[in-house]
Amino acid sequence: MKMNRPYEHRKAQNQRRELDLDICQLCASIKNVQAHHIFEYSKGGSAIVEGMITLCEDCHRMIHKDDRIRISKMENEITSSGVGGR
Ligand SMILES: [Zn+2]
Ligand SMILES: [Zn+2]
Repeated sequence: MKMNRPYEHRKAQNQRRELDLDICQLCASIKNVQAHHIFEYSKGGSAIVEGMITLCEDCHRMIHKDDRIRISKMENEITSSGVGGR
């Protein structure tokens, strides 16, 4: 099924950011936050709030650059490995 810029997708992204209060869930930055798909959209991840996480631009870029970094979100707990420091 093909969809162009599905409304659901954008709605979920906005919802995600609202839920995360527009705060990066890795470093707590509020600068340039964006919704990242924990499950790649292209790999069958769906555009649902639960499949996303709010990240700042830096963390977002880092996650895409380094695939050793894994993010899993269970309930409200975020586990990340490979991210240095805290
Ligand atoms: Zn961040
Ligand atoms: Zn992303």
